[in-house]
Amino acid sequence: MGWATSDPAFRVKLLRFVDVLPSLRSSAAIAGHVRQYFRDDAPAPVRFGSAVAGAGAFRPVLSRIVRQGVFTMADRFIGGSSPAEVLDWLAGLMAEGTAYTVDLLGEAVLSEAEADAYLERYLGLIRTLGAGGPGKRDGVTQPNVSVKLSALTPHFEPAAPQAVADAVSRRFVPLIRAARELGVFVNIDMEQYRYRDLTHFIFEEVLGSAEFADWADAGIVVQAYLRDAPEAIGRLREFAEQRGTAVTVRLVKGAYWDEEVVLARQESRSSPVFEDKGATDANYERCTQLLVEAYPHLRPAFGTHNPRTITQAMVRTEAAGLPREDVEFQMLYGMAEGLRRAVHESGYRTRVYVPVGQILPGMAYLVRRLLENTSNESWLVHRHEEGDPEELLRAPAGAADGERETAEFVNAPPAEFYRAEVRSEMAAALQHARAQFGARYPLAIESDGIAVDEWDEVRCPAEPGTVMGLVGRASPQDGGRAVVAAAKAFPEWRDTPANERAAVLRRAAGLLTERRFEFAATMVFECAKPWAEADGDVIEAIDYLRYYAGCAERLGAGAELVEVPGEDDRYIYEGRGVAVVIAPWNFPLAILCGMASAALAAGCAAILKPAEQSPIIAAKLASLLREAGVPRGVVQYVPGPGETVGQALVSHAGVDVVAFTGSNAVGLEIIKAAAVVHPGQRNVKRVIAEMGGKNAIIVDDDADLDQAVSGVVTSAFGYAGQKCSACSRVVVVGSAYEEFRTRLAAAVESLIVGPPEDPYTNVPPVISDEARERIERYIDVGQREGTLLARGSTPATFTGHYVAPMVFEEVPRESVLSCEEIFGPVLVLYRTTTFGEAVEVAMDSRFALTGGVYSRNPRNIAFARREFRVGNLYINRKTTGAVVGRQPFGGFAMSGGGDKAGGPDYVRQFMVARAITENTMRRGFAPEERGR
Ligand code: NAD
Repeated sequence: MGWATSDPAFRVKLLRFVDVLPSLRSSAAIAGHVRQYFRDDAPAPVRFGSAVAGAGAFRPVLSRIVRQGVFTMADRFIGGSSPAEVLDWLAGLMAEGTAYTVDLLGEAVLSEAEADAYLERYLGLIRTLGAGGPGKRDGVTQPNVSVKLSALTPHFEPAAPQAVADAVSRRFVPLIRAARELGVFVNIDMEQYRYRDLTHFIFEEVLGSAEFADWADAGIVVQAYLRDAPEAIGRLREFAEQRGTAVTVRLVKGAYWDEEVVLARQESRSSPVFEDKGATDANYERCTQLLVEAYPHLRPAFGTHNPRTITQAMVRTEAAGLPREDVEFQMLYGMAEGLRRAVHESGYRTRVYVPVGQILPGMAYLVRRLLENTSNESWLVHRHEEGDPEELLRAPAGAADGERETAEFVNAPPAEFYRAEVRSEMAAALQHARAQFGARYPLAIESDGIAVDEWDEVRCPAEPGTVMGLVGRASPQDGGRAVVAAAKAFPEWRDTPANERAAVLRRAAGLLTERRFEFAATMVFECAKPWAEADGDVIEAIDYLRYYAGCAERLGAGAELVEVPGEDDRYIYEGRGVAVVIAPWNFPLAILCGMASAALAAGCAAILKPAEQSPIIAAKLASLLREAGVPRGVVQYVPGPGETVGQALVSHAGVDVVAFTGSNAVGLEIIKAAAVVHPGQRNVKRVIAEMGGKNAIIVDDDADLDQAVSGVVTSAFGYAGQKCSACSRVVVVGSAYEEFRTRLAAAVESLIVGPPEDPYTNVPPVISDEARERIERYIDVGQREGTLLARGSTPATFTGHYVAPMVFEEVPRESVLSCEEIFGPVLVLYRTTTFGEAVEVAMDSRFALTGGVYSRNPRNIAFARREFRVGNLYINRKTTGAVVGRQPFGGFAMSGGGDKAGGPDYVRQFMVARAITENTMRRGFAPEERGR
């Protein structure tokens, strides 16, 4: 570990290697990974080991040494593999006068079956410790277990606290009933910040109930690295006061620091944790004081390995006159033993946090401990047992973190539905959207009051009996009128300076940000998008507006050319002309807005032709763009059927660009139609066509299956599989197959299929009855040509277009199920022997849109980067949810031909380039400066 502290690159490799090791099922696999991880850039003895790993004879020996090494390391932090194994050790600890709490390590819980298994393990633990296990029944040192509530349900979804509380209680209540009966104390552990309020909510709901309100043997954790930890203590104090029975609070620094910081940066949010250690320590001291003041309603337990923190806690509790038996200090198993003994000798109760479990499921815990022990920021590496006492006891600097430097383009952050106030805003927006049902949405072409012969009803996919609104149906003639108006308005917009066009788009982004919940709510009803999906659609649209505004400014400056004296050479870009934007319903705002804002950024006039299923959100977008300052003729809204007005627009002689996103069949038709030159036409049309996919994810035999199962489920069944990027094939390599298929099947069977309005829903209904019938025809093929592995449920009490999520295996590779885009919640599972074969299966498609790989094998990852040729390849993450500017999106082959949306080249497609050269030399005299 010394090497890991001093060498950051080696530290990363070591942590990754430790993470993958338990899943390596043969000595060849271990030797192979050692070689790949440590061949270069490692301390000499490790490099030597990795060099000999190549020789077959050494493999068994090497793999034994390596396994032993890591298991010894794990032994330092993990008490044993089962409760029975640690009983003697716990008894010894108690004999010394030290208490304990046992935590059961486990895999991520992805299904009801896994949550049941977890509960059984906990009940077993409680029985083992309670029935004659070490600890006094009547004293403060009674048996003590630590529980993670996320392990008691596969749906720990913070956006739906009541539903989660109900689900968790079904397991949590029997657990604490058993604990109470057997005199076992239960402490609730805290995990990532997004689960914090949810955990409090469940804790309060259950412990505040009539059955448990007088039970004093319960506690909860507060993490001092959180900026709002003092508020959490305030909330707990209020709860305990109302309840009338004390609650123990374990105050810790917090174990998810790295993850919180990284996620906040990825989501452009300010971090919920202090980014420097001094500020965390200062907050710990603030929280200590609050706990002391909240006594006896709250009973403090200080989880810390820092002598300064311990000392201040002793001083504060003594000064306030807290009895020592009501104060305790907790330390992790295997860490700071000397310090624990010293605290114990000063007459305080100490408690050891003992994780128990198999090393494979315990990996996440072990990696967190190793991170903590090898981080230079960690207090532990300062080796307190040898360090300078003055330095160690110095008061922490309560440094405020500086604001993070912001780049020019920053992605819009997702809505924090884990906060009650954000949920209320969304709920209010849904109510408001419902109140608007029945409204009319007319065309918006240059002149107002265009009379239409027909109005189309838009019905909610989750409530087919409900008419959400009436939308004017544009005729082909209306389309023609819009083209003429666009052609008239185009030159002025083209000649508007790029920075002014950009300012209009940024204003639109601002308006959309203000109205984000209204727009999200519209999509919940119109397209059956669950909360998070609808929110994702809105922020993607905001990102496009801002990102393409930046592109407009960049392209507006023209391109650099070779410079020579006596000549002025310029290269400029300008809008092509009239752009027809034909969008699909599945990202009804993001894709429409993306194509339209790129056209507008480029200086084109845009005519929006939304999909028949999603014209209401499109009407809102068109009016928002006008409100932001896009001139009327420059953005127009022409809803109607693709076969009539859509086709008329594509064929119109006055159209210069067709930006289409949709199915392959329609895309190819449009390409053909746009190639036909009509009388009076002066331009060759530029067609940008983004089409379907048949995407595969490969699960390697060393993949982290917690990650792979949940990533595949999200990629395949999120929004009922109605995403072009959705995974519809999964290819599993070798020995991972059995475990993967079992866990996948249980996870799919546990999915919550329900209405999109309910934030607890995982899988909403599909867009229409026609879509449901089409998907069911594919399911029939699956039943005939393959074997059904898993079938999710459909809600009995709802009337929407529901399709149960399905997984098939043993489907022939040439079956339509393996080849065609289904666009529904249907997944096919294949098995291969090698990774190379898996890539071959994954690539066996005429589409090339997205692909995914779950692997911890560097060589296989490198191979996939080279050979798994798709538009967007995702390694160790889901295949959906591309982010503008970070994962520019789009495919090739039969998936499309345009440049990537949300990437640096996209806007360019809506532009023509002009080169202008002036000879500036007159009679041999040339100006010196080019004078641009
Ligand atoms: P679709 O092809 O049925 O319709 C797309 C649009 O084309 C609609 O606005 C429709 O009215 C219009 N249209 C239909 N026929 C037309 C014609 N003859 N002339 C002009 N316009 C016509 O697709 P959909 O069902 O709305 O969307 C789902 C499809 O979109 C899937 O295949 C999916 O993979 C694809 N998609 C691709 C991407 C991508 O970026 N590659 C993104 C989202 C969706």
